[in-house]
Amino acid sequence: MELIIGHLYPDLLNIYSDMGNIICLSQRCHWRGIKVTIKAISLKQKLEWQKYDLLFGGGGQDRQQLIVSQDLQTKALALREAAQSNLPMLTTCGSYQLFGHYFKTAKGIKIPGISIFDAYTIASQQRQIGNIVIKLNNPQKFQSFSNNSLKQTTLVGFENHSGKTYLSKTSRKTQTLGQVIKGFGNNGEDGTEGAIYKNVVGTYLHGPVLPKNPHLADWLIKTALERKYQRSIKLQALDDQLEWQAHQAAIKLAKKGKIW
Ligand code: GLN
Repeated sequence: MELIIGHLYPDLLNIYSDMGNIICLSQRCHWRGIKVTIKAISLKQKLEWQKYDLLFGGGGQDRQQLIVSQDLQTKALALREAAQSNLPMLTTCGSYQLFGHYFKTAKGIKIPGISIFDAYTIASQQRQIGNIVIKLNNPQKFQSFSNNSLKQTTLVGFENHSGKTYLSKTSRKTQTLGQVIKGFGNNGEDGTEGAIYKNVVGTYLHGPVLPKNPHLADWLIKTALERKYQRSIKLQALDDQLEWQAHQAAIKLAKKGKIW
């Protein structure tokens, strides 16, 4: 089997080791004998979404988000079609914000998004920074294929954002990913974190998020393979002892309120 992974704007949106998500996906596929090709998709490049099995976009500073946002509008239709066709995508922080309706920065600039998520983001004076733990709303969806996994109901990561994201309360289109146990999440007010629409996931979790959350990584891989090969796929189990130790260590740090 083979997966073609598209990395959106790796030259502009890549902070807090977001690139590690691509490495993690590739490595988990490699261990299972699944071939992976990574393709960068950046400014002025046409996005032929049908050629991809999975897309990833990382976080960025407001300045980079402004540049990306203009280009993203030229890819908006393609990305919306891709979302409708159940293409799995992971967007973290800066990309997550741009997959909503808009991000209004502290300088009052309204950076337009592409409205895949029914959500908007407004910068606050408060920097929401630190280790974060969330409880998944739908943990049975995200089971990893590990030989020694723990209870897979949480996600861990590191967040750093000024933006507060609000999901529409009335729309059934966008669900929240989880509830904050420790940290800020979407806005530090309503206890929610992240968003999910069809197979598109948005989250504030950096770190990078996937190596310490193999259940999320495996869900993306499994979903991409099942969509591509049109059959149910059971991934080969991996020895994730270190990954789950890292997950537990991150929970402890977050609960102590420590950054490292
Ligand atoms: N610039 C955005 C904010 O501060 C996103 C930051 C990020 O991607 N970590 O909210």
